[in-house]
Amino acid sequence: MADDIDDLLDEVETKFCVKGNEKKAKTVSSKRKPIKKTAVDDDLNDMINDIIDEPDLDDDLQPGPVDMDKRVRSSSQSQMKKCLSVFLGGSSASVGAASATTQRTCDQLRCTSCDFKIVYFDNYEWDKTCDYLFFRNNVPDFEKLRAKLKMKKGSRAYACQCKWRSIKSLVALSQDTDLKWVCGKHAS
Ligand SMILES: [Zn+2]
Ligand SMILES: [Zn+2]
Repeated sequence: MADDIDDLLDEVETKFCVKGNEKKAKTVSSKRKPIKKTAVDDDLNDMINDIIDEPDLDDDLQPGPVDMDKRVRSSSQSQMKKCLSVFLGGSSASVGAASATTQRTCDQLRCTSCDFKIVYFDNYEWDKTCDYLFFRNNVPDFEKLRAKLKMKKGSRAYACQCKWRSIKSLVALSQDTDLKWVCGKHAS
């Protein structure tokens, strides 16, 4: 009986030990893998740190200007829009910054020739007797300009100090090569 118990104990011990060894072996092997991994990770981390470290040295100098650039760029983008292509139009044409999808007529036109902002008057056209001097002397004063503005439904009278146009329908500014008008950017 005692032998039997001893045998049993031996058996249990062996089984236990084997199991324990298996467990040990498993845990060791399963531990080793992560160890290897972490070793690789450490290597990677080292490499990453090396990569990061170098620009890090410049980072002390860069963030300020870079951030400011971003801020300036985003603020100028959100506050000032430029017409993608510039349009002139009649009195019924909507005004604002023209985008890729909306063909609005520019209301922030500037003349690069006389350096004046273009004025425009809805439902008016310029009298045929208008000349360069008239605009030179009277833009942008509507009270003076109205002397040669005639009521014309659907028309829009544009003028700077050197050029003038009476527009009835939407037209791309690029088609009128005589005009040195550009979009002066829109606040939005
Ligand atoms: Zn514009
Ligand atoms: Zn001009």
